Amino acid sequence: MALVVQKYGGTSMGTIERIRNVARRVAKTFDAGNDMVVVVSAMSGETNKLVALANDMCEFPDSREYDVLVAAGEQVSVALLSMCLKSMGYKAKSYHGWQVPIITDNSFSKARIEEIPDTKIRADLKEGTIIVVAGFQGVDREGNITTLGRGGSDTSAVAMAAALKADVCEIYTDVDGVYTTDPNICSDAHKIEKISYDEMLELASLGAKVLQIRSVEFAKKYDVDIHVRSSFNDNTGTMVTKEDEEMEAVLVSGIAYDKNEAKIAVMRVPDKPGIAAKILSPLSDANISVDMILQNVSEEGFTDFTFTVTKADFKKALAITKETAKEVEAKEVLTDENISKISIVGVGMRSHAGVATKMFQVLAKENINIQMISTSEIKISVVIDGKYTELAVRVLHDAFGLSGK
Ligand code: ADP
Ligand code: ASP
Ligand code: MG
Repeated sequence: MALVVQKYGGTSMGTIERIRNVARRVAKTFDAGNDMVVVVSAMSGETNKLVALANDMCEFPDSREYDVLVAAGEQVSVALLSMCLKSMGYKAKSYHGWQVPIITDNSFSKARIEEIPDTKIRADLKEGTIIVVAGFQGVDREGNITTLGRGGSDTSAVAMAAALKADVCEIYTDVDGVYTTDPNICSDAHKIEKISYDEMLELASLGAKVLQIRSVEFAKKYDVDIHVRSSFNDNTGTMVTKEDEEMEAVLVSGIAYDKNEAKIAVMRVPDKPGIAAKILSPLSDANISVDMILQNVSEEGFTDFTFTVTKADFKKALAITKETAKEVEAKEVLTDENISKISIVGVGMRSHAGVATKMFQVLAKENINIQMISTSEIKISVVIDGKYTELAVRVLHDAFGLSGK
């Protein structure tokens, strides 16, 4: 008998009929003699509706109340799935995050899981109960409801698998695995059989939302193999696992894009030591992460300082930056919300030169201008005009030999 953790995402839980389909799949695995913990997301679209309600109510919604609101979507889906399983004759029980409890820190809307005591779950499993846990939600040590960031149910599932030392962790979604790029924008994309934690971490952090980045961090830390697969068929999916030699032989294993960032440029700032810290510290104090950064070569003692933040943080970041710009006597603050970050990822890059040059040449040939660049050992990212996203992904996918495999 194995302990199986399965996670079903929003599309898989999107309608009553789809929830019935999930219940049938869960029941099949349970009937095969396994203990089951099922983590579910809100029905697709529901979290977006709740976020929109918060933004309609206030310009800057209170962060504690925001989490109480957006956690509501998962409350509906755990109840519906448990109800369905019970009506099929199974013992099932829904759990909210606080009931497990999934204990997190108190960074509302991007909380980190700290601990998951397993006593209650183990006792219910022993009784033959199928546990249905609300993804995305946690509780801080003062008892406040927290949420784990968009796409956070993946992290709930991997953290549950780690805490319970589960034998299997399956993430069921609307595609049957991790592809060389988003299969919804590039029809030539193909499924990757297995991918290393580090590559998946890069792809996830660079915009491939098939897994939330923190879920991969957890999996790597606690050695949880993740099987990403589809809830609409029985195909073998992708294993996210430890790196091996086969993986190193591939130069570029995936391409990601992210349209979810916006650019803020502080123009003509006096170029003095400490200027970067002066602009960025108020943002980190407000718990806003900055991604790409570019500081131009100084001219006549002035420089332009440009950075990107997520669109969710954009309004707040802009308000803060305008204040700082006044203090440092910058000329003006310019913004661009229509950008896209395109990244190529592969552990094989560690041992090959010329990958960046090839990427830049391929984009230049299509007349796509590069606005910002950042690199790490296993990835290269560029910021371009958002309207060229699909084109850039397709030409790079071709140029690095990922098409037509
Ligand atoms: P869920 O609701 O199940 O959590 P998500 O919408 O969060 O599903 O993630 C699945 C989606 O991720 C796919 O529909 C696909 O469009 C997108 N995606 C982006 N990059 C990739 C990739 N490299 N491989 C597979 N899917 C990807
Ligand atoms: N429902 C949450 C979201 O839409 C969490 C998740 O689906 O993983 O972001
Ligand atoms: Mg998701």
